[in-house]
Amino acid sequence: MQVHANVLNGHAETSPTTFDSRNPATGAVLGQVYSSTREQVAAAVAAARAAQPAWAARPDSERQALLMKVAEVIKSNSEYLAHWVTREQGKPLGGVGPGQVPGARFEAWGCEVWTQVPASLELPVEVVFEDETRRDEVHLKPHGVVAAIAPWNWPLLIAIWQVIPALRMGNTVVLKPSEYTSIGTLEMVKLIAEVLPPGVINTVSGAGEVGGWLVEQPGVDKITFTGSTATGKRIAAVAAQRLISTTLELGGNDAAIVLPDADPAAIAMGLFWGAFLNMGQTCAAAKRLYVPDELHDAVVAQLKSLAEAMPMGDGLEPGTAIGPIQNRMQFDKVSRLVETAKATAGATIVCGGTPATGPGNFYPLTLVTGLKDGDALVDEEQFGPVLPIIRYRTVDEAVASANRLDVGLGASVWSPDIVRAREVASRLEAGTVWINQHGMVHPMVPFGGIKASGWGAEFGHAGLKGMARTQVISVGKG
Ligand code: NAD
Repeated sequence: MQVHANVLNGHAETSPTTFDSRNPATGAVLGQVYSSTREQVAAAVAAARAAQPAWAARPDSERQALLMKVAEVIKSNSEYLAHWVTREQGKPLGGVGPGQVPGARFEAWGCEVWTQVPASLELPVEVVFEDETRRDEVHLKPHGVVAAIAPWNWPLLIAIWQVIPALRMGNTVVLKPSEYTSIGTLEMVKLIAEVLPPGVINTVSGAGEVGGWLVEQPGVDKITFTGSTATGKRIAAVAAQRLISTTLELGGNDAAIVLPDADPAAIAMGLFWGAFLNMGQTCAAAKRLYVPDELHDAVVAQLKSLAEAMPMGDGLEPGTAIGPIQNRMQFDKVSRLVETAKATAGATIVCGGTPATGPGNFYPLTLVTGLKDGDALVDEEQFGPVLPIIRYRTVDEAVASANRLDVGLGASVWSPDIVRAREVASRLEAGTVWINQHGMVHPMVPFGGIKASGWGAEFGHAGLKGMARTQVISVGKG
């Protein structure tokens, strides 16, 4: 069985020990990955440091052109990469475009697009003041070496979100994929590294401790991290010791609020995928649904019929819409939250609620009603295929419910009256509030959380600026 190597300074790097990567649909071992040693982590950072000045000194247009080549390589290998995503992460292959299940092919296509956009954006020097006495310009400079640490839910796409803007701005990168989904990411980086100079992109692999060694390296100048709030706090504490910059995309518990004038049939599909995209394992998925009393039963009925109609299975099988949960840790968390809900007075399991037996981490799409704020399934991020639907009486009450938690990644408001929906949206404490859609990120639109969901923004011009420091050049005209 193949052992998938890291990329270090342009060559394949092996380590003394390995670990397995498993298919969550079958439990089968897919291959092995090396556990990087502390010395290899230091060597990867040293390689990135050595490569950085020459990479930053290239004209921006050369970096843009090379990153466009990266996008081409991703495109020409998109089926290969999509198959790794399905086999290792579990999301169905799906397709790209209207009416298609957004799965692994969507993820591979997203990698291409989220490479092209940051590669092609213009970043002119900003003249912030000029008169007859002075001219003040803001220039963007690379931080240096960026440590990127990725999670397992969108293993290729989130790595691309971290790596490409960093490279465009003249940084070099050391990336650590999640230990649950390393192979696909390592295969993608191997392809990317073939078109970039040695040392510009490097990887290390292994469990959380490898990420810990990476962020502690004195040669790291910036950390970009996507994952749990608990790990994000640890990383922020390490970064604080050296006062280096961090971008933290952490957990969320997004509220979706249906307003009383919404049409349940018209919004059902959008709500469904807003909650269950990637089996709910999406940072900005709808994780709590607030519905007015008068629409409650109709919304529940619509979602139930969709949930029961979606074929669940191995994502390599044509027609599969819903795959397994990616790992046992997450499966157990989802199971615990549903069992707690079952034991809660007044709660009803509308559909699902019983894990599938047999191989694979299959958990059926589950809708739960009769819960209230304070119940575990409402207050904790489930990050899986379970949605609590909570009744409200007044919109003020729903807004207060949405805002009462310490996280604020996304939220959504559903209504045909956009003026009314905007007014509610403006009162919600979240980095993004979608209207009549949920989780619809776009490469031109800044994305990031507030409160314990993190800080900093990814995507668009804001994302590029996050991978740079500013330098003011102030010219006296005296
Ligand atoms: P996690 O924090 O356990 O792991 C994320 C990454 O951090 C992995 O690569 C892991 O090996 C590494 N890591 C673990 N301990 C570390 C340490 N001490 N130092 C450095 N690195 C360390 O999170 P996860 O289980 O992979 O992801 C699930 C969570 O991530 C969910 O809460 C979800 O909401 C969140 N998430 C957020 C976003 C976002 O954009 N905001 C996107 C995806 C996932």
